[in-house]
Amino acid sequence: MKKHILGFPRMGIRRELKAALESLWKGELAFDLFEERCRELRLRHWTIQKDAGLSMVTTGDFAWYDHVLDTAYMFNAIPERFRALPKENGELYFKMARGDERFNTPAMEMTKWFNTNYHYITPEIDKDFVPQLNAEKILKETKEALDAGFVVKPVVVGPITFLSLAKGVDGYNCWEKAAVLVDSYAQLLAELAQYAEWIQIDEPILAGELPEEGRKIFVETYQKLNAAAGNAKLLLATYFDSVDDNLDLALQSGCAALHLDLTRGGKNLDEVLEKFPQNMILSAGIVDGRNIWKNNFAASVATLRKIQAKLGDRMMVASSCSLLHSPVDLSEETLMDPEIKNWMAFAVQKCSEVAFLSDYLDGTCDWRIAAENAVAMQERAQSSRIHRPEVKERLASVTSDMLSRKSPYPVRRKAQESLNLPLFPTTTIGSFPQTPEIRRTRRALRKNEISQEEYVEFMKKEIAFVVQKQEELGLDVLVHGEPERNDMVEYFGEQLNGFVFTQNGWVQSYGSRCVKPPVIYGDVSRPAPMTIDWICYAQSLTKKPMKGMLTGPVTILCWSFVRDDVDRETVCKQIALAIRDETADLEKNGVRVIQIDEAALSEGMPIKKRDAAAYLKWAVESFRLTSTPVEDETQIHTHMCYSEFNKIIRAIAEMDADVISIEACRSKMELLEAFREFEYPNEIGPGVYDIHSPRIPETEEIVDLLERSLQYEPAERLWVNPDCGLKTRRWEEVLPSLEHMVAAAKIMREK
Ligand code: GLN
Ligand code: ZN
Repeated sequence: MKKHILGFPRMGIRRELKAALESLWKGELAFDLFEERCRELRLRHWTIQKDAGLSMVTTGDFAWYDHVLDTAYMFNAIPERFRALPKENGELYFKMARGDERFNTPAMEMTKWFNTNYHYITPEIDKDFVPQLNAEKILKETKEALDAGFVVKPVVVGPITFLSLAKGVDGYNCWEKAAVLVDSYAQLLAELAQYAEWIQIDEPILAGELPEEGRKIFVETYQKLNAAAGNAKLLLATYFDSVDDNLDLALQSGCAALHLDLTRGGKNLDEVLEKFPQNMILSAGIVDGRNIWKNNFAASVATLRKIQAKLGDRMMVASSCSLLHSPVDLSEETLMDPEIKNWMAFAVQKCSEVAFLSDYLDGTCDWRIAAENAVAMQERAQSSRIHRPEVKERLASVTSDMLSRKSPYPVRRKAQESLNLPLFPTTTIGSFPQTPEIRRTRRALRKNEISQEEYVEFMKKEIAFVVQKQEELGLDVLVHGEPERNDMVEYFGEQLNGFVFTQNGWVQSYGSRCVKPPVIYGDVSRPAPMTIDWICYAQSLTKKPMKGMLTGPVTILCWSFVRDDVDRETVCKQIALAIRDETADLEKNGVRVIQIDEAALSEGMPIKKRDAAAYLKWAVESFRLTSTPVEDETQIHTHMCYSEFNKIIRAIAEMDADVISIEACRSKMELLEAFREFEYPNEIGPGVYDIHSPRIPETEEIVDLLERSLQYEPAERLWVNPDCGLKTRRWEEVLPSLEHMVAAAKIMREK
């Protein structure tokens, strides 16, 4: 029985790829040395797969920046603005990803890869696109692996997924290029077929929302591709959800094997087995590639046996998706609590799990490993570290009145007049510039180089400075500036029960950027207040309202690795109750304005439209649970760095925050179009200062943006604020920008 993974993380255990990329970009590392380091990483990752006992190693999964960009590049889908650049030393490739400041050439857009936190480069296709195969990279890497003695399985992003994710330039319909693009794919497969028995072709769109154009051409496309592959066998890979509406296409594809994600898409396994063609192999994605939990062997074997009973040896054992989304190696976690560590598996361990499960079915495994696994599972199921009866009881006793404010918005608005805010009130989103000194001081505390008292004193000085600057600027609702937070999720996770942090659990977010998500392993609760001291200190320095600053439950959930023994809704609501206590404590301590950030609300959206409503229901309930324990006089804000509102506008309104601030600047307020059809009932602050750019906006520009906003929202309900927090900006940019923002608000008031 074949055993394989769909891809391995590229970064390296020490984030070697990040270091190499950043040195290359700074001009400190020559290109051939950069490639040499990449080659070492590839060899290391193939060795891990082989040593684990996998039957073949994946090639072509290693991208300098992103594998979708690799695909665009390979087929010559190079936007006009880059075409004249030299291809040597990756110059053109990296410019596509990162833009070219000297010539003001914007980078290609980035989008989230389905519902993961990985971002791919969105291919751009225009009417002049002529596909032309340049397979140098994947061929080189595949030969490299062959020469080193590995059995290879190259992987490519399939044409239907590629076209589904691409965006047509100026409204061009990308599908018009399908036929010529498929010809190039056929050429590619013919080349790869010389080296490999199996070629993996990823079509995750089959488990998502496949456009009608893609449906229409799917089967004929795969007929062509299978013919082109000749003796090599195509493994059609799907993941992240079940293949149901498109199951007929997958089964008629004529591919030698179909890969299914059984961790997120196993719901219709019975139907799949019922309809599975006689000559097809099923690659069972049973080891979750997107989390950090040890596989439950007993449960997995039960599923695999069921497949085996129906298909006999026409099966493979695999990871659910590429391991790109999981950290590299658990054995590097030397500081982690051993009990919790024993419940986990990272990419290296997952390779062994795949191999083990296959050997188990074959009866050739080491049974001691199965026994150890069973013990770990049992300990986890019963651990008092995870299961806190008081948390479960509290969640069970949530009543519907805990999901609503005392009065509806119009009544609250009246009550909040006591805040004495002017028309077009000005505020910021929370953070102020995080200077090197601030970062150094946080680091020094972590390394015990300074005392807690010294730390607090420094932070208080910083807060006082930020408050004073805001007073001078004449802002209406102030913030404390968040100097004590290095990350909006980590800050809360570190203070909540049920969270643990890794040392090296990095996962690629995009390009050289990695994130180290907290791990939620158990029932979540709040042992003590988390923000009160800082906010109250800040409030004591000013007569203006000080905005308490919290991260919302959905965002904490979406940016963490989440336990897999209860559903996400339960985890989210546990977090919500913990933050709810913080909201109540802020109010109790005299804080009259409280912002609860939900930057990630839209990131949690399921892949399939039909699942959206159920998600939004519990996501909104979680936010309401967090935000409603307060009196009518207390003003609740929320913030979202997100501008495609049309799909979720109703859900956002149902969150019933008194004020929402959103990103709007880059789209020149176009996002407010969503409010044409649906009037947002409460107050709203569409960002008027693009904090993603160092540029200082002029007063007139801001006035102009505010006037545009007036077409959608009445003046009484408009706020004036930047797009997002200011922590990545410098004071030199922030001060004049906010000065202009406040001036613009004054002009609007006079008008
Ligand atoms: N309050 C946070 C800040 O200002 C919000 C960050 C975010 O939306 N990503 O930094
Ligand atoms: Zn934001």
